[in-house]
Amino acid sequence: MGPTPRPELSRLQPYVPGRPIRDVQESYGLTQVVKLASNENPLGPSPLAVVAMQEALASAHLYPEATAPLVRTALAQRFGLDPDWLLVGNGSDSIIRLLCLAYVQPGDRVVVPGCSFPSYRNFALTSGAEVIEVPLVDEAMDLRQMAVASLQGAPARVVFLCRPNNPTGAVFPEDAFREFLAQVPPTTLVVVDEAYKEYDTTAFDSLGLLQAHPNLVLLRTFSKIYGLGGVRIGYGLAHPAIWKPCLTVREPFAVSNLAQAAALGALADDGHVTRSRQVNEAGKLALQAACAELGLTWAPTEANFLFIDLGRQVGPINEALLTRGVIVRPVGGRPTCIRVTIGLPEENHLFIQALQAILSSGLY
Ligand code: PMP
Repeated sequence: MGPTPRPELSRLQPYVPGRPIRDVQESYGLTQVVKLASNENPLGPSPLAVVAMQEALASAHLYPEATAPLVRTALAQRFGLDPDWLLVGNGSDSIIRLLCLAYVQPGDRVVVPGCSFPSYRNFALTSGAEVIEVPLVDEAMDLRQMAVASLQGAPARVVFLCRPNNPTGAVFPEDAFREFLAQVPPTTLVVVDEAYKEYDTTAFDSLGLLQAHPNLVLLRTFSKIYGLGGVRIGYGLAHPAIWKPCLTVREPFAVSNLAQAAALGALADDGHVTRSRQVNEAGKLALQAACAELGLTWAPTEANFLFIDLGRQVGPINEALLTRGVIVRPVGGRPTCIRVTIGLPEENHLFIQALQAILSSGLY
């Protein structure tokens, strides 16, 4: 018998990412493959981010500045905050992990949405938490039920919310969120994952709530609208006292030179963000129109993906899409639904054509 892993880990499965393009090309003998599976920006990164990374390459031998001070300062200026309110991490995923490492003890209650980004549950379980999943209602979070769940028994240590929610794209209203914050005790950390905020046409000023709520954390990322998922950089906004224990448990050099340079380049290019939003809105309409034509239903989305109910088991349809070079994302626990990232017009078209052909074949 070899070394024994921690028993908490027996409740976890490794994260299953969207299949890489190369993998699908090799498996299915294809040259043209579109990936609409991981909510990446189909326009790629800003050219300013690319140039900034090229310039940073010559300093690859130097360790990065540990706390990414230039990125924090740039973000702080943008948001009118002191840089101490920002923590920059190796993707926002790493900040979810840090928060669980710093705050969650074995047996603590952690409340998460029933169908959402799996890292909340996974990192909470890794810390030995009892994870309470509150089901979605009409594909959206029910903040009243989440407040009830977080107040049952010992108050929850952490509540994770996701706005817009991955994978459904749904948002909760500002007044419901304010009510939620008023109900939850100040000892409960409220983490709102805003990875898709820049796409949200209904976004409200969540930053404005930070001063009054020292238990509130907002998470954002450069992986989505800024097109830097492959570089790994995200950040959190919260009262500096929240970050203190996180700083003690973080890896010393979590964010590379390249990632820090890329983020600064990306922040200097608001035009790229605007174009990305426009491409997304146009693609959203095209995909929704195609779904309507196919008689499929979808959830209203404020993100860069669409949650579609195919009304039948997705396994064989997903396989058929892969053989036609289209990678989408089946959703765990929802056997008839897929999540499709909104792509470029031609990518959306390929997906629609493939889906039309598959559904009209009468085989599924
Ligand atoms: N939160 C949500 C809701 C996400 O969808 C993702 C990425 N799929 C992340 C966090 C992680 O993003 P990052 O690349 O910054 O780690």
